[in-house]
Amino acid sequence: MDIVLQPVGQIDPGLLEALRQGLCSVIGYSVSINPRIAVPEQAYDAARDQCLADTLIEELYPLRKKGSYLLGITAVNLYATDKNFVFGEASPMMETAVISLYLLGGPGVSKELLLERAVKEAVHEVGHLMGMDHCDNGQCVMHFSGSLIDTDVKNNYFCANCRPRLL
Ligand SMILES: [Zn+2]
Ligand SMILES: [Zn+2]
Repeated sequence: MDIVLQPVGQIDPGLLEALRQGLCSVIGYSVSINPRIAVPEQAYDAARDQCLADTLIEELYPLRKKGSYLLGITAVNLYATDKNFVFGEASPMMETAVISLYLLGGPGVSKELLLERAVKEAVHEVGHLMGMDHCDNGQCVMHFSGSLIDTDVKNNYFCANCRPRLL
């Protein structure tokens, strides 16, 4: 399966390209980048200044090409119906996922650290698209990130238990 990155709203092109390379080197599939689209109005809640992750995935789904996974990248903060924020969300059925850079960067966060976190979250969501669940191993990329501490502790690759499930 190829992976296609879909920038949603303004994303630094340098970061996007570095993320493409990072994802490619971990997963080992070809990763390409689609032209940028605007943040879909249906998914954006102006009062919260956040996007509802599930709705954003539904809006991105029509852009997915058969035989490839679509991974949306946005700088807008994401939330879910049961969570105030999420770093990302995946729908294996729709072969579409999304990650947000919003909480990964900010004051005092270097470009390198932002990229490192973004690669981990991107690999994590692609893992879900491949049918993987969360992993108990805190160092595995499939470990659930409830906070940035979880993200910073885990590696950007799959543990020995998860690795064989990489399609
Ligand atoms: Zn997850
Ligand atoms: Zn694992």
